[in-house]
Amino acid sequence: MQASPSEVAVIGCGVLGLTSALLAQRAGARVTIYASEQLPLTTSARATGEWTPDSRIALADAAAPGFAAVWEEMARTAFKAHRNYLGLPGTPVEWIDQYSVTDDTPPSSSSSSGGSAPSGPAFAEYGKSIADLVPKWRRVPAGATPFKGASVARNELMIFNIADYGHTLLNDFFIAGGQFRQAEFHAPSQIAALGKRVVINCTGYGARALWKDETLTPVRGQIARLIPQPDVRYGLTYRQVIAVPRRDGIVVQSFEGGEMKGYGDTNETPDRAEAERAVKTLAELFSPAR
Ligand SMILES: Cc1cc2nc3c(=O)[nH]c(=O)nc-3n(C[C@H](O)[C@H](O)[C@H](O)COP(=O)(O)OP(=O)(O)OC[C@H]3O[C@@H](n4cnc5c(N)ncnc54)[C@H](O)[C@@H]3O)c2cc1C
Repeated sequence: MQASPSEVAVIGCGVLGLTSALLAQRAGARVTIYASEQLPLTTSARATGEWTPDSRIALADAAAPGFAAVWEEMARTAFKAHRNYLGLPGTPVEWIDQYSVTDDTPPSSSSSSGGSAPSGPAFAEYGKSIADLVPKWRRVPAGATPFKGASVARNELMIFNIADYGHTLLNDFFIAGGQFRQAEFHAPSQIAALGKRVVINCTGYGARALWKDETLTPVRGQIARLIPQPDVRYGLTYRQVIAVPRRDGIVVQSFEGGEMKGYGDTNETPDRAEAERAVKTLAELFSPAR
């Protein structure tokens, strides 16, 4: 904004395009978003929806010098920004309790048949530098949970109810006079041809093809969504499966095979068998026998 542009173009209408557009509007610019798809169809709509800012953000041995400090500033800014969405109608952002349940039972054969996850280097972990923002895990006393023989810990987590969060961002953008143009770019020259002095690139994974940026790597696998269950208001982690009680459907995600699951995997075809294995693992925890 140092060049005082009165007009800004944002390429991409996922959560980062909309967030950038809103920031530019608040700084006084007129903003047009150009994108092939709007938020409900983008990758952003397919996220788990947890505020876990150091999750898979960089590889341990590849982060640029000084990145940890930049990351911390970004995380603290993001935390403050998202706090402003708490308590709004529609609950775009909220805090939930989450439980981690561990037992000594090895994963059942049903949950170990999915093949091995790709191996690779470890992800960097920066969480300690924002320990003051993130509630600590606390052990739940044995006998205070319904799970016999299991060890249970609890903490709190900020989550995004993505359907409503996206809707809120889109509304705020249009209310502030934002314009949307459907467009698909195949080369940077097409963006230059827009004639805008300031262009913010928020094309997500699309940047790999558009900007020929081969450093972009998929780092997440899939999620599955169960129908919304308004009475379930807590998250759960059990045997490499997590469940997040989003208002737009309970998200179930498997880390079967380890933390590097999904790394380098470009396949976006939904894997129903994986989802069913994950649900079965959770069902075992809630079976009357437990
Ligand atoms: C299974 C899964 C779980 C995840 N869980 C979390 C989580 O819990 N928390 C978290 O913070 N993150 C999570 N993420 C990551 C998160 O989803 C992404 O980091 C985020 O959505 C990226 O947003 P974006 O706006 O940069 O990109 P996108 O949402 O991909 O948006 C890109 C935009 O650019 C447009 N575009 C791209 N190329 C072109 C082109 N050539 N021409 C025109 N338009 C173009 C698209 O149409 C779209 O509008 C998860 C991701 C996955 C896959």
